[in-house]
Amino acid sequence: MPRQISAPRGTRDLLPEDGPAWERVESVARDLSRRYAFERIEVPLFERAELFARGLGESSDAVEKEMFRVSGARGSDEERAAWALRPEPTAGIVRSFIENGMHVRPGPLRLTMIGPMFRYDRPQAGRYRQFTQWDVEVLGDAGPAVDAELIELGQRFYGELGLTDVVAHVNSIGDAACRPAYRQALVDYFGAHLDRLTDDSRRRLEINPLRVLDDKHLAGDLVDGAPRSTDHLCDECRTHLRGVLDLLDALGVRHVVDHRLVRGLDYYTRTAFEFAIAGHEGQQQALGGGGRYDGLVELLGGRATPGIGFGIGLDRTVLAMAEQEVALPSSAPLVAVVGSGDDHADRLRIAATLRAAGLAIRPDGSTRKLGKQLESAVKAGATWAVIIGAEVADEQVALKNLATGEQSNVAVDLVAASING
Ligand code: AMP
Repeated sequence: MPRQISAPRGTRDLLPEDGPAWERVESVARDLSRRYAFERIEVPLFERAELFARGLGESSDAVEKEMFRVSGARGSDEERAAWALRPEPTAGIVRSFIENGMHVRPGPLRLTMIGPMFRYDRPQAGRYRQFTQWDVEVLGDAGPAVDAELIELGQRFYGELGLTDVVAHVNSIGDAACRPAYRQALVDYFGAHLDRLTDDSRRRLEINPLRVLDDKHLAGDLVDGAPRSTDHLCDECRTHLRGVLDLLDALGVRHVVDHRLVRGLDYYTRTAFEFAIAGHEGQQQALGGGGRYDGLVELLGGRATPGIGFGIGLDRTVLAMAEQEVALPSSAPLVAVVGSGDDHADRLRIAATLRAAGLAIRPDGSTRKLGKQLESAVKAGATWAVIIGAEVADEQVALKNLATGEQSNVAVDLVAASING
């Protein structure tokens, strides 16, 4: 027998039994996007690797260790080496914003998408090489009201799904005016404790000292004693953060100020936030995260435009729902259409009529005995059967409730009303 081919490491197939939970998270995300007045945008799954290197920063894990490079079969060596699968959506969306001259549209622009992201990381629980994010971005609004609005939106998403104990972790990492002094304070502090740093952190200290705070392998007391960015903010950044926190209080959004939260990407300014379930705060466990990136549009060659967004990981959201045993809303009833002999033209015609009325229909395509067809219908999850017999000539069928066994003759036009009761 030919050798089986398995799925690439770090990827998962979404199987039929996984469907309802995914349908649920995607439909809540889409519905919230509508209610919060976001417009859909789609950008390619791959872009020039340089876009991510510039947008995310060479020192970010996403670029340094996890970039999923792809190449075409043709073209020059340079062209073939130039592409990467997107590790996150913001850089691509900002590229599109600039390229399509979207700054002339009436702003602020509110954009959203749901789609797969790729990071060539070591796969483990909740960390995949392909995963799906719901992303929202607002371009052209300096906040702080919109910052609070997005954090409230994230909390509402988890709340509407039925997840409990989700906490928003919030911090401000300052801006070009105050971050340099904060970076220096971190360099001085961690520089005095080089012997307690990991190799990774020693390297981070040189390239991007804020990211030392991200290192999960450092001793708690070392990190707790580190300078806090909130103590180094300039007046504008301090007022901005105060504004965000006051609004979150006013809206009753559950949050904590988290001094370790710096996020891995270079382009963040001011507000950074993450959502985690209380007690599961380790980096691997974040359900979603986002932040303000006031310098990114300019960095990628556009006109200076403030921006803020979040990416919520739908894989981890689905995992958390399973862990908390969140009940899913019951799905629409499934109706089998069965018959006898080779009356398939009638079965398919009636199936089409009932589908036009909005029902989910599974016609039996076999010539087995009626009893066998009904058995398969129950196994497939049908709760009703439409049985076609001689009365079909008068547009009548028998409608059987597969749970109770009750059966009665009904006009085809009335089947949907009888089922939806
Ligand atoms: P990040 O931009 O790294 O903060 O990612 C935002 C969210 O996407 C995280 O909070 C996770 O929920 C999700 N996420 C990031 N990387 C992965 C991954 N490798 N596998 C699954 N989910 C991920």
